[in-house]
Amino acid sequence: RFSRAFHDHPSLSKLLIVFTVSGGGLVAYSESKSYDGVNIAAPPELDSKKKRVVVLGTGWAGTSFLKTLKNPSYDVKVISPRNYFAFTPLLPSVTCGTVEARSIVEPIRNIVRKKNIDICFAEAECIKIDAENKKVYCQSNQGTNLNGKEEFVVEYDYLIIAMGARANTFNTPGVVENCHFLKEVEDAQKIRRTVIDCFERASLPNLGDEERKRILQFVVVGGGPTGVEFAAELHDYVNEDLVKLYPKVKDLAKITLLEAGDHILNMFDKRITAFGEEKFRRDGIDLKTGSMVVKVSDKEIYTKERGSGETSSLPYGMVVWSTGIGTRPVIMDFMKQIGQTNRRALATDEWLRVEGCDSVYALGDCATINQRKVMGDISSIFNKADKDNSGTLSVKEFQEVIDDILERYPQVELYLKNKQMRDIVDLLTDSKGDVAKESIELNIEEFKSALSQVDSQMKNLPATAQVAAQQGSYLADCFNRMEKCEENPEGPLRFTGSGRHRFRPFRYKHFGQFAPLGGEQTAAQLPGDWVSIGHSSQWLWYSVYASKLVSWRTRALVVSDWSRRFIFGRDSSRI
Ligand code: FAD
Repeated sequence: RFSRAFHDHPSLSKLLIVFTVSGGGLVAYSESKSYDGVNIAAPPELDSKKKRVVVLGTGWAGTSFLKTLKNPSYDVKVISPRNYFAFTPLLPSVTCGTVEARSIVEPIRNIVRKKNIDICFAEAECIKIDAENKKVYCQSNQGTNLNGKEEFVVEYDYLIIAMGARANTFNTPGVVENCHFLKEVEDAQKIRRTVIDCFERASLPNLGDEERKRILQFVVVGGGPTGVEFAAELHDYVNEDLVKLYPKVKDLAKITLLEAGDHILNMFDKRITAFGEEKFRRDGIDLKTGSMVVKVSDKEIYTKERGSGETSSLPYGMVVWSTGIGTRPVIMDFMKQIGQTNRRALATDEWLRVEGCDSVYALGDCATINQRKVMGDISSIFNKADKDNSGTLSVKEFQEVIDDILERYPQVELYLKNKQMRDIVDLLTDSKGDVAKESIELNIEEFKSALSQVDSQMKNLPATAQVAAQQGSYLADCFNRMEKCEENPEGPLRFTGSGRHRFRPFRYKHFGQFAPLGGEQTAAQLPGDWVSIGHSSQWLWYSVYASKLVSWRTRALVVSDWSRRFIFGRDSSRI
């Protein structure tokens, strides 16, 4: 009851301190493993009727869930090693001081404070999930045990895993020890300091030109959106600001982008890829495609050409590794427990429930909707359309099937844009002549087998903030209506039946994607194959990102950072 009063009346905190210190309550407080005025192991009696929801992570998925949750009948505990939400799309801008780190983060307590729901936060890391006993084991750096870490256990009725992913090194030797990653706010701040370090080091007297060149060789590994955006930001930073401050070494600075595939930005439209590659060449960014990194030492990066197998090495001053995402150890351990081995992420069904686990949901980068099931569903859509069991469909039927698939699985549209998939569709329509003629019949088996060839490419929804945020708000909507649905367990007829859930399944809506390319130019690929590249898209990028920021405070800070940069340039102090 006291904890509750403390919760409701923060002014009682001083009284609580006096009470705990004078009455020896501090020990009991820590032994009962409580935080934020709420005992985790044994929730207050008052709340015993409330379902306990535990949310792991305060990233895009977790925060979007918390923001959308309205139903006060839950007792929500949020556990994350970071007590803030970070707007990751602006992280590359933090690496060069275009925006400040504090401008893109919002304390999670600020986000949930005005909600009429029992939500408490613990700054801790989940180290183990025990789905059988519905418990999660956590560890906090704030603690007092011998390792300097406090451990506690939290019980749940519903668990929401939104822990994101970690950088993927593909076990390449030397990467962890020698490369920078760009995943967290701290990574971006570290990169910002290292860039300045390199320029200061290269400006010291008594260095030969070769050594200066090495120090000012910046290598970016990975030609995905993050690697490309970082290379472009760095190029602008060096050419707009640092060249004025380091005139003696300015000509020695070089940026190299290594990409193992044939092209950069290969998830974008071909026009964007071509424009990006051409722009980088014009800007003097050394773009090496088909180049796989095999090892990184403290001063050199070793590559192997994919075609010729030739190996070479490149001395460097700083490497930023951005080759996609991998699984966090705690998720890997959980996957082993529930028999989901050999996967990159937790497999869920279309209702975001972890397969084989009761009351556990996974969203965002740590989850993947089980594609085998999607493929199975796609097959059954075809079979249903083939009413006369002839094994063929007319063009009209075929179009209907495609529309149905796209409505259920909008992610397929992304892959329809991918070259191989487009070839398949061309093969089945154009190659037979006039597609408008309804008499043309399409072979279902041919199409299905072609579709399964791209199964590996149709791995899943892209690991983006857009997907994570939509999943978070979808799940919160389900939780908002959970009780109503429990009163009426049959639900709408179309959602009943074996394996089905009482809510409509999750549907991703793609709003397009941006690729900032530097020099105030951005490529935008919007739904409906609409591509725009150049300065006007840069303004669209500014407006969209400013509007998507999580609060008016961060919005004001980011806009003022952008204005400051336009007027005074970027700050290059090494603090
Ligand atoms: P995250 O946002 O990574 O959140 C994970 C949360 O889990 C964090 O709060 C973390 O602290 C917490 N956590 C970690 N370990 C534990 C643990 N053991 N226990 C409890 N909590 C834990 N996407 C776009 O759509 N557009 C973009 O422009 C874009 N740009 C990007 C730029 C960069 C540099 C990066 C790195 C990513 C970008 N993304 C972009 C991708 C996007 O950020 C991710 O897809 C998104 O963050 C995934 O959301 P999430 O909630 O799954 O994970």
